[in-house]
Amino acid sequence: MSSQPWLYPIFHCRGYRVTKVHRDEQRLLLSIEPQPHKVCCPQCGGREVIRRGQTVRWLRNLPVGGDCTWLIATLPRVECRRCRIVRQIRPGLAEERRTYTRSFARYVLELLRYMTIKDVAVHLGVSWDIVKDIQKRHLARHYARPSLKNVRQIAIDEINVGRGYRFLTLVLDLQSGAVLFVGQGKKADSLRPFWRRLRGAKIEAVAIDMSPAYQKAVRKHLPKATLVFDRFHVVKLLNHKLTQLRRQLYRQVTDDLKKQVLKGTRWLLLKNPENLDPVKGEPRRLHEALRLNEPLATAYYLKEDLRQIWEQLGKFPARMKLLDWYHQAMASGIRVLQEFAKTLLIHSDGILAWYDYPISTGPMEGTNNKIKTMNRQHYGLRDGDFFTLKLYQLHEAKYALVG
Ligand SMILES: [Zn+2]
Repeated sequence: MSSQPWLYPIFHCRGYRVTKVHRDEQRLLLSIEPQPHKVCCPQCGGREVIRRGQTVRWLRNLPVGGDCTWLIATLPRVECRRCRIVRQIRPGLAEERRTYTRSFARYVLELLRYMTIKDVAVHLGVSWDIVKDIQKRHLARHYARPSLKNVRQIAIDEINVGRGYRFLTLVLDLQSGAVLFVGQGKKADSLRPFWRRLRGAKIEAVAIDMSPAYQKAVRKHLPKATLVFDRFHVVKLLNHKLTQLRRQLYRQVTDDLKKQVLKGTRWLLLKNPENLDPVKGEPRRLHEALRLNEPLATAYYLKEDLRQIWEQLGKFPARMKLLDWYHQAMASGIRVLQEFAKTLLIHSDGILAWYDYPISTGPMEGTNNKIKTMNRQHYGLRDGDFFTLKLYQLHEAKYALVG
């Protein structure tokens, strides 16, 4: 069976000769051994070697027809006359300690572009772990360390993954959309390994929320970068205050009718007015609630007005708008609004930095949604490293996101 060249392209075993082909059940088994001229010292490449026993390795190979195929490789151990050391010949067609050939791994990676890990495993009749292992090794080779060299604008935010409260802190490249870093937990501490990777990076702007911990960490490690407070987090904070106010008012109101009107208005207050549904009578209900509660109406209109800060022609009018908003809120006499107004003023530089770098943590939302799709396919979370690698590769979406 030594001269059957057509076997090699089919079975991807160039450099070997096939000594036996046989079938057992659904498997096609090819016994192979290195061609004699390939037997040399793995250390120096010398041909003058003496055989000192052998090992046999079973390697899963590409399917042929409906059969899965295995290569049963007999690999000699040789003693080199020059090196005087006995060594095991490496198979070449498979990596160390793997039970599949390189061509099998390539085929699996190709299938993973269109199929989930589970699908590929079932299709090829191998375990989920083998398919995952192939993908993980591939990811580790190409994505283990996202480069920061060309990164200029980043967003930092925490996301909630999985059931319960498991948090990850992500750093996102706002230009490419690539995840640059995945930290465990949501404290500024979880960013520590990221700062260590910054050497030589030229990051110009960072979008974060207004939490003091992030501010402090970014100022310390990226002193030259412009801090931009994410506009969506600012709006969210005010929404939170509005909800708080509504709850307070609801408790204070003694009139049953007024109570009835306030009930269930929480979401109406937070909705953008253009999204209110007239069919459900939402604009009418909101209007009624606002008519009966002056403080609520004030807060509501200030909430709507806040957006104007980001809709000015430039930084100067935006600063005027912010100050105007601040004074209105302070004059309202409503405590939660006054608290918020102070926060706004203290953070005004970072808020208005949006006019220098119109960036936000918004793109994090898209990443978060992709991660949720991954979670639904319930994989990866158990293997944190694999999960991180998947996130580093996420923006390329070259392979199926599910798994
Ligand atoms: Zn040698």
